[in-house]
Amino acid sequence: MINMSSSKKEPLLIIGGGLMGLAVAYELARHGLTVEILSRRRSEAAGFVAAGMLAPYAEGLTGDLLKLSQLSLDLIPKWVKRIENDSGIDCGLKKCGTIVPFSSSEERDKHLCAPFGHKLDRTELENELPGIASKWKTALLFNQDGQIDNRRQLMRALEKACVAMGVQFQEGIEVLELLHDEKEFKGVRVLNAEGKIEKILGEKAVLCGGAWSNQIFSSIPVFPVKGQMMSLQGPKESLNRILYGPGTYMVPRTDGLVVIGATSEKNAKFQEGLTPDGQSQLHQGIHELFPQASQWPQMERWWGFRPCTPDKNPLLGPYLLKGLWLATGHYRNGVLLAAITAELIVKCICKKQLSISESQLLEKFTWNRFAVIN
Ligand SMILES: Cc1cc2nc3c(=O)[nH]c(=O)nc-3n(C[C@H](O)[C@H](O)[C@H](O)COP(=O)(O)OP(=O)(O)OC[C@H]3O[C@@H](n4cnc5c(N)ncnc54)[C@H](O)[C@@H]3O)c2cc1C
Repeated sequence: MINMSSSKKEPLLIIGGGLMGLAVAYELARHGLTVEILSRRRSEAAGFVAAGMLAPYAEGLTGDLLKLSQLSLDLIPKWVKRIENDSGIDCGLKKCGTIVPFSSSEERDKHLCAPFGHKLDRTELENELPGIASKWKTALLFNQDGQIDNRRQLMRALEKACVAMGVQFQEGIEVLELLHDEKEFKGVRVLNAEGKIEKILGEKAVLCGGAWSNQIFSSIPVFPVKGQMMSLQGPKESLNRILYGPGTYMVPRTDGLVVIGATSEKNAKFQEGLTPDGQSQLHQGIHELFPQASQWPQMERWWGFRPCTPDKNPLLGPYLLKGLWLATGHYRNGVLLAAITAELIVKCICKKQLSISESQLLEKFTWNRFAVIN
């Protein structure tokens, strides 16, 4: 049976309560909008999975994605301060820098962000990371990169900050379909927490469905890339920088927890769970990067799904349907890009002035670069 539920003043709907959903909802609510998050399952969000690196340079980003990341990096300190003030939760932001090790200077100089890094020879590398495996002869140090403790702190802080701003949450609700005519968004059809199908009417929504965005709206070319992770408890300050090796990285939190990531499994689709292959890849990676860490106690293992697009760049800004905006497809760098995503979406929705570079970037990340229309 279809139940119609429609409120007097329809809120702006946020479809998906993961990292982007929370970040966008928080920013919109701060701007005085009435916002409601429709979230299927809090715990499946990649926002709770990510390593929390803010590392465009170690990642070797280039072109428009690097520009977008640089804008986000500039916003992050103030953005985090606001979230911390509104939630009372520290987010674990650290500008700790990343070190990308290489076995030869030829390899090092081929890194796409090499001109932004500081070259380290073996002695300097050992001084930075005593205990790094002997096969690494040189490295790039990117002081600009950092991290945030998304899994234990940022996500909770964002949720609390949203509540403080009056954002409404409907948890356990699955959006089955977007309702629209040829031109306009009209609402959503959902399976609610009681297992009933209902329509929620609305004139405005932001699609923040992460890796599942294409299941919600089939014109959105987003697919999952699974990542398996684990954590170790190292001695405090045993690593002071992120160690970003080929295929494996180690992200040291302040309390000595070291987050290890990550596999990259496109063929796994939405297959849940850990695999022996995935876990052994991480163990091998630790051994090759920082052998003593193989002895540290293992703490947790988990997995999640990165929202990827065909060109690995996000989908941002207004969609073809009036009243629908996209904030999805952030792939490996959603934590890094959350601040600029929220800022740009709010500027679009609230019709605030965009700078020239912001407008240019929005054009680059618009949905119609794929021109996939049902
Ligand atoms: C292993 C791994 C490591 C990563 N490491 C980093 C990193 O170090 N740095 C970085 O910047 N980024 C990293 N990322 C990427 C980052 O986590 C993502 O880009 C980001 O979380 C995407 O945010 P999102 O809100 O789009 O998706 P999510 O956080 O996944 O949220 C999507 C939400 O939508 C909800 N949803 C889905 N379908 C429906 C539906 N039908 N109805 C209602 N709700 C629905 C889901 O329940 C989920 O809560 C990593 C990701 C992974 C998986």
